[in-house]
Amino acid sequence: MKCDEMIVRYLLLDNGEKLSARMRLHLLFCKGCQREIASIEASFAKVKALEPPIDERDISDAVLMIVRNSLPLYTKKVSMEKWILAELIIIASIMLIHFSTAKAWLDERLGGYFHLLLNAAMGVIVTVYNAVLAMTHLDEFNRVRKRIMEYFR
Ligand SMILES: [Zn+2]
Repeated sequence: MKCDEMIVRYLLLDNGEKLSARMRLHLLFCKGCQREIASIEASFAKVKALEPPIDERDISDAVLMIVRNSLPLYTKKVSMEKWILAELIIIASIMLIHFSTAKAWLDERLGGYFHLLLNAAMGVIVTVYNAVLAMTHLDEFNRVRKRIMEYFR
């Protein structure tokens, strides 16, 4: 190991990380690197002495930032297949409701407007459902869109 490499590796060590066996071996025989590292350590010690003690600093923002960043993200995700299956069930229900006896009974009592209101409500339900599906799966839709664009290129 050359001296330049030794110093670079030393500087890349994380706080408290120990020297590798090769580095210790080099350091054992190289007076230049011993001096260089002693100088670096002395500089770090001077910088550390200049820092105010930790209890005098206002660290609330830093602590809040760490806490905020460590909170788990909401990652539960429903797969596209389940969304589409649920939508097919909704659409099948909309179609099958016209054959139900309850609907026939309501048609008889409430007249033609019930039929219109029922269809409008089902349309709103499917539209809202699709909007939520699109908003929660934008990445997947974008991937499909890109694939389609590449196919027609
Ligand atoms: Zn050296």
